[in-house]
Formats: sequence, C-alpha cells, structure tokens
Amino acid sequence: MTAPNIETIVSLAKRRGFVFPSSEIYGGLGSAWDYGPLGVELCNNVKQAWWRWMVYERDDIEGLDSSIILNRLVWKYSGHEDTFSDPLVDCRECNTRLRADKLTDGKCPNCGSKNLTEPRPFNLMFQTHVGATAEDDPSSLVYLRPETAQGIFINFANVLTTSRRKLPFGVAQIGKSFRNEVTPGNFIFRTREFEQMEMEYFVKPGEDESTHQEWIDACYNWFTSLGIAANNLRLYEQPKEELAHYAKRTVDIQYRFFPEREEDERQWDELMGIANRTDFDLRTHSKKPEDAEGKRLNPDSTEDLSYFDEANKERFYPYVIEPAAGVNRTVLSVLMDAYSEKTNDKGETRVILKLHPSLAPIKAAILPLAKNKPEIVGMAKAIKRSLQPSLRAVYDDTGGIGKLYARQDDRDTWEQERVKVADLQEHLLKRLLANGKSIL
Ligand code: ATP
Repeated sequence: MTAPNIETIVSLAKRRGFVFPSSEIYGGLGSAWDYGPLGVELCNNVKQAWWRWMVYERDDIEGLDSSIILNRLVWKYSGHEDTFSDPLVDCRECNTRLRADKLTDGKCPNCGSKNLTEPRPFNLMFQTHVGATAEDDPSSLVYLRPETAQGIFINFANVLTTSRRKLPFGVAQIGKSFRNEVTPGNFIFRTREFEQMEMEYFVKPGEDESTHQEWIDACYNWFTSLGIAANNLRLYEQPKEELAHYAKRTVDIQYRFFPEREEDERQWDELMGIANRTDFDLRTHSKKPEDAEGKRLNPDSTEDLSYFDEANKERFYPYVIEPAAGVNRTVLSVLMDAYSEKTNDKGETRVILKLHPSLAPIKAAILPLAKNKPEIVGMAKAIKRSLQPSLRAVYDDTGGIGKLYARQDDRDTWEQERVKVADLQEHLLKRLLANGKSIL
C-alpha cells in the first residue's frame, strides 16, 4: 500500500513531527516548510544514504561543498542569467500567474479562462547584494545558487590537482538551492528553497553515452534499494524539444507522486534527472576557447579547465554525466511509499510507516518493562548510552509497555527491544550491527 495522495502525507507529517508549515505563527510563507524532529532525521538519513552510496562505496568519486553565493560571472557563463527562466503568463480575468509550459489545455486552472497574456521569460534566480553598498549598485548584485552543479565545475581543476585523479572520476555535492518558482506547491515537491544531491561525473568524449546509461540504471536501482516500489518508479526520456541547451540526452526518474489522478500519464513527475551535459560546462568556464575570429569566448576566466590524457598525449574538455536528485522530493516519495494502514481487533485503524531501516528516523527505542526496578532501569539507560554515539536511540519509561510500543510505532522506530535479560545489550548490539552498513 502507498499513500492515496500527497494531502494524506501533509497532515501525517505535521501530526508526527516530520514537516511543519514554515512561519505558521505569522500566517505562514507560501510553499515554505520546516522539518521537525523526525523530519530532520529522515532528511539526514536520505543524504547519508546517498553520500555513502555515491562517495564511500565507490573508488572514483570525491566530495565537495561549495558556496551558495558565487561570483556573478559563474551564472553569466553557465547561461543561467540569459536562459534560466520559465515562460510566464498572466490570466487577464483573475490575475493568476502561471507557467505556460504547465498548462494542459491553455486554460487558467484557477478560473478556467482562456484570456491569457503572451508568455514572457521569468528568470528564476533569487537576487541579493553583497557588501555595504547601495541596493541598486549593479557591481554588488549576486544570486543565490539555483543548482549546486556550477560550484563543482568551477572547482574542477582544484579537485583534479589535489586528489590526483584521472578520468573517469566524479565530484559529489549536497546542498541548498534556490529558485523563485512561478508555481510552487504540492507540499515539499516544489518549493523555492530546497536541497539537491548532485554528482558531476567527468569522462572522455566518446565514453559519455555508455557511462550515461550506466548511471541511469544505477540511480534507478538506488531508489529501489531504499525500499521504493518499482511500480511507482519509471524512466522518462526527455524529448529533444524539452532538453536543456547543453544536454545531449536526459532521462528523468519519475515517481508516482499523484496516484489519485485518473489518467496514468498525469500521475508521474520528476524525482531525479540524469543528464549528459557534454563538454559545455568545462568549456564555457575556460579561458582558452575562441570564436572564428580568434576572440576568447570567456575573457573573464583565469583558468583552462581542459584535461591532459597522459596515455594518449591528448588534451580535451571532459564530458559530464550528471545525476541530480532532490532531497525533499526523495523524502516525499519515501514517505508516500512507506505509508500503510493497520487495523486492530477493535476495528481501529492506525497509520504505520514502513520505512527502510537505513532511513528510519529513530533506530532503537529502549523501553524498560518496569520503571520501579533500579537494576532494569539502570541496564536500560546503560544500553541507551552505549548506542547513542552511533545511532539515534531513545529511552522512554513514561507509560505501560503496550502504550510505549504504540508510541514508538507512531514514531516509526525501526527496532524495539524489551530490557529483561542480562545479556541483552550484547544481543541488541549484534542485531543492530548485523545491519551496520545501513544504520551506522
Ligand atoms: P522541474 O522540471 O520539476 O522544475 P528540473 O528539471 O528543473 O525540475 P533539475 O534542475 O533537474 O530540476 O534539478 C534536479 C532535481 O532537483 C530535481 O529532479 C528535483 O528533485 C529537485 N528540484 C528541482 N527544483 C525543485 C524545487 N523547486 N523544489 C524541490 N525540488 C526541486
């Protein structure tokens, strides 16, 4: 069973402390959400699972954490200043602002009118100013990054030299990105502030197509390894007209975020994109490439980001394969997929989240059978203390054992143990460590 719709998850997430509407006591802020005690653990577990799979378990990937605010020239040469926009239309009847490319029948979804303005580009980058300068001083203008990828490209030479890597290799980064979305919504699916997990994999031209396919397969398998049902995942080949200007091929992994919609095609939306970005990025940020008249295409860069292949004594700009996923959309798909209902003998139904052990917010609950027996309480607390440096463990003795179990079910705790035997600590640790790769 999966959640019947996103709305079910919105109320569950608030009730249990996963996600709260942001700034609620001041009336909220459209499409901004805060992650509560269980939500922050779940997000961290998603990021840790990705980092472990991407960086630790492979031999060819390094990590990076670049700035959110970069030199404005990065966004000039990446093309974002000119092209990172959505086509915006206004409804002349009800003044709603809409994304022209998301209208299915050319009608305003708010009032049904077809009286819409012509589409015009709306740049999605948030602007701010650095330093104690006047707001209208153009030299102080900077952007909040709309993707983490550019921070990787501008550090290509730094990582290459310091890590002494040879192609193929990749650089992974997790961090916040910001887009002034025209139509945010659907809970944490589309927000203006969100978190991305991106990896740029650098390969020799000619090896790009097969590497791209390998990453598409690997990413799909990663999502199923997190417990997401294969029938709620599908691959979507972007048609030529949808491709970004730099992309040779892009395949999205889509999740069935909208199971309540009648038409199957409308049930799916993007969870992750895997793009073949060609050599566009390293070339555009390099000082060397010239046009037909010998004029530098990038007169501002101080570095050439080409690669010298010792074996063949040739120099070229590597191609880039980019798997890019959203932390928040992954969290949403994980919550929807883990949703199930349990009905007891009395006919009462409770929601249980069957999360994969590696993602469960709380790994172990230590619940003593009797709180008035010092030897049991002492042992229980000692077990909690021994577990807590390596995993999220909780101790609770504020109710009868049945109530304590039910409470932990509600908190989606992965493992619960009764404290009553002297060798329990060892037994429990063994059980947890048996799955150590995914929980520690
Ligand atoms: P969309 O078509 O849904 O706007 P995109 O193709 O622009 O997404 P990418 O630029 O490929 O998205 O970003 C990579 C990933 O970042 C997406 O697959 C998604 O998981 C996540 N993402 C992008 N925009 C948002 C957003 N506004 N809110 C939450 N996650 C986002």
